[in-house]
Amino acid sequence: MKIDNLNSLVDSIKDEVIFWRRQLHQNPELSYHEEETSEFIFHLLQSFGYFEVTRPTKTSVMARLIGKQPGKVIAIRADIDALPIQEESLVDYASQNPGVMHACGHDTHTAMLLGVAKLFSSLYFQLKGELRLIFQHAEEKFPPGGAEELVQAGVMEGVDAVIGGHIWAALESGKVGLAYGPMMASPDSFYLTIKGKGGHGAMPHQTIDAITIGAEVVVNLQHIVSRNIDPLDPVVISVGRFVGGTQNNIIPGTVQIDGTIRTLNPKLRQEVPLLIERVVKGITSAHGADYDLNFILGYRQVINDDRIVQVLEETVREVMGDEGIAFVRPSMGAEDFSAYLQKAPGAFFFLGGGNKEKGCVYPHHHPCFSIDEDAMQKGINIFMHTALKLLAE
Ligand SMILES: [Zn+2]
Ligand SMILES: [Zn+2]
Repeated sequence: MKIDNLNSLVDSIKDEVIFWRRQLHQNPELSYHEEETSEFIFHLLQSFGYFEVTRPTKTSVMARLIGKQPGKVIAIRADIDALPIQEESLVDYASQNPGVMHACGHDTHTAMLLGVAKLFSSLYFQLKGELRLIFQHAEEKFPPGGAEELVQAGVMEGVDAVIGGHIWAALESGKVGLAYGPMMASPDSFYLTIKGKGGHGAMPHQTIDAITIGAEVVVNLQHIVSRNIDPLDPVVISVGRFVGGTQNNIIPGTVQIDGTIRTLNPKLRQEVPLLIERVVKGITSAHGADYDLNFILGYRQVINDDRIVQVLEETVREVMGDEGIAFVRPSMGAEDFSAYLQKAPGAFFFLGGGNKEKGCVYPHHHPCFSIDEDAMQKGINIFMHTALKLLAE
């Protein structure tokens, strides 16, 4: 399929995409409750014509544009959910849903993918293969997260390649962030109970002090990162919760210590829990205490396929020039886009959305979060060109 004036096609829907984005922004819905959002997407997609539009789960939407000639199946994913945050940004299209806000930019993802849908529907008669658009619910809510559910529901059946992107406030608008290989971490959790023996604060010898033992565990967990792991392999272990005791003169018999483990390497993901248990076991047994330790595995790592990143890189250079490329370091944040990568090779990219002059300076999940809407046109361009290239392979 050869498309000459794709850029002018993308220009032609710019205002409409901004309109959709603002509609979505004003009406944000929480993960698993994207009822109106998914209705809006569903009806809009139907109005474009040619798409086979379905609801793989209650609040998600899938749209298939199946060309008359056989070819590759290329999927693009956008997430559609918002966050439990009261918006404090000063935009005149701020959230009208109290306590809920599109503070991660998923409204822009949805609007961009709707733009891609509209343009592709106008190219239907030239289409070889299938373009599959996945409007995913509940990216922000683990477990299990929307992606895993959609994969279970079969949205990736027959897909040859999958692409996705995230608007990125830390990256200047006009740039696209790419990474070959690992791009985002797996966010696994641990829940530890130290079991000692409580007693009087004045008679510690009669107790097994869960607080001092717990404190030693916390300090020693950092030795895993600094002494057991190759310094060139990124690993994070953070304790986010340490709870124990009731009063200053009572030594508690138990404390609860919960934390997060971030790794970019699947092998280390297996190893770190064993190292954590070794530390916990050693320290508790040294002091005559016991423990319960549980791990909950989060999303998998996002590991990009080199060949597809290469197609993205070529596309960005063509569409935005060499200055559009920003090779980014992986993020220790997480994304359930990784679920799709279990089924087909793919790549995820960051679309720069930061802009100091427009006041788009706040991080994701901040009550004042906002993005440069001009970035959306670039995003649509990247999705369109990349999908067309992958379909033509
Ligand atoms: Zn988020
Ligand atoms: Zn997000």
